[in-house]
Amino acid sequence: MKAQGYVVHSAGALLEPFEFDRRELRPRDVGLEILYSGICHSDIHQAREEWDPAIFPMVPGHEIVGKVTEIGSQVSKFKVGELIGVGVFIDSCRNCSSCLSGLEQYCLEEMTGTYNAKERDGKTIAFGGYSNRFVIDEDYAVHVPTNLELSGVAPLMCAGITLYSPLKHWQAGPGKKVAIMGLGGLGHMGVKFAHALGAETTVFSHSAEKEQDAKAMGADHFVITSDVDVLKKYQRNFDLILNTVSAQIDLEPYLQSLKLDGTLVVIGLPGKPYAVKAGTLLGQRRSLAGSMIGGIRELQEMLYFCGEHNILCDVEVIAADYINQAYDRTVASDVKYRFVIDAKTF
Ligand code: NAP
Ligand code: ZN
Ligand code: ZN
Repeated sequence: MKAQGYVVHSAGALLEPFEFDRRELRPRDVGLEILYSGICHSDIHQAREEWDPAIFPMVPGHEIVGKVTEIGSQVSKFKVGELIGVGVFIDSCRNCSSCLSGLEQYCLEEMTGTYNAKERDGKTIAFGGYSNRFVIDEDYAVHVPTNLELSGVAPLMCAGITLYSPLKHWQAGPGKKVAIMGLGGLGHMGVKFAHALGAETTVFSHSAEKEQDAKAMGADHFVITSDVDVLKKYQRNFDLILNTVSAQIDLEPYLQSLKLDGTLVVIGLPGKPYAVKAGTLLGQRRSLAGSMIGGIRELQEMLYFCGEHNILCDVEVIAADYINQAYDRTVASDVKYRFVIDAKTF
């Protein structure tokens, strides 16, 4: 089927309009009209080839919400007309221990990314969500609650699940002190979830003007980190710190603000290594960990949680021809708090 979208042809090039083909439906495929597509900082890292060598042409986008327009002959999970969400991966091996336990993002044969990836045939380039149509195997899509504003739902598919999953895994809740580093697309969802789960929530931000917003989202404390000396006041303080900062920063003062047995989870992916002092870790039996998005089961759980608690991303809805400016503004931490493309404008 024909799709309209936006493409980047080479590393760092501007995105431009693109017409391309999506596969015809297989028996277990669902076809959808995309309604909204979020702009994740990972899109920017990959379009600018800041990680590993990337696959071009690239249609980025892995925060997709839409409406089912057609279903394959064996589809049982979705009906035409229903809302549907697609996130960061579209397939995985389905047989390894990770896949079998609902942790497809950690597939031992690698998940198939929604874009900047080849499908499991090893040759078809996967094109992502900056477009008006999509085709997905039903097992890799989720149901979207009907009571939520859909533009604010799209970024839940990556930004939302990526913070929900570690908060659940490290048991954020009443009596726990949680800090979120960086109040961007991911970070602001971390604040909302940590607050909803009952944790005492602190934001570490280098943008002083975000304080009021952070408090409105549920943050109990807001700490401006432009001068990292401020962190000395928080030594041995937190149970859990989630680092969503997209740039490479010195983790050392943040590690020192973990209490005994505390964990700092690396979520931001700047593409360069962090330096860490062994003494800081072993001094208070601290852990440095990582976490990547969430599996399909947890993605579905998170969306129902959002439906129940009325949790949404704060978004700026844009037309497709604003994507290049949106990229620059995101890199400058100038977005409140996620750009979402209205797919009617592709
Ligand atoms: P974003 O909206 O750009 O937010 C990043 C935030 O980091 C900014 O809002 C800013 O917060 C802070 N920041 C940026 N540059 C900084 C600097 N030079 N010094 C200090 N703080 C800075 O990005 P995002 O979409 O939330 O993504 C964040 C990172 O997570 C990206 O690297 C992305 O690739 C990665 N990611 C990882 C996963 C995963 O599964 N682990 C999933 C999605 C994305 P303040 O203004 O509050 O300081
Ligand atoms: Zn993402
Ligand atoms: Zn697998």
